[in-house]
Amino acid sequence: MPVCDICGKKISGVDDIVKSFILTTTEVVENISYWKYVFSKPEWASDNSSILIPHAVLKQASLTTGWWVCQSCSSDYSFNASEAQQRIIESSKNPNVTYGSSKNQAKASEVALKAWDETHDNKK
Ligand SMILES: [Zn+2]
Repeated sequence: MPVCDICGKKISGVDDIVKSFILTTTEVVENISYWKYVFSKPEWASDNSSILIPHAVLKQASLTTGWWVCQSCSSDYSFNASEAQQRIIESSKNPNVTYGSSKNQAKASEVALKAWDETHDNKK
């Protein structure tokens, strides 16, 4: 059973699946909402965690598999909905299908650092 790769919610049953999407790594890691969500997790609470950002960006931006995104998370992302739903059909036929890593890791880094500043400045 798929789970949302953003929030971890189970995507079960036809009702959930028809409202979900599979996004590409580029569509996820170049979106500031993704990093804001990541940095809101407890393991990123310390200001010293920023040292781990380059590693996190490299790791996430290198992934080539599609990202399941549930209906509620999908509203934070911009993507072509029909392509994203087509990927669900594609991945059901071929579970090993990949969509490539982030095309622009520098952009992903820039977005992640901006998200870090926005999420951590607010706490000061
Ligand atoms: Zn979700």
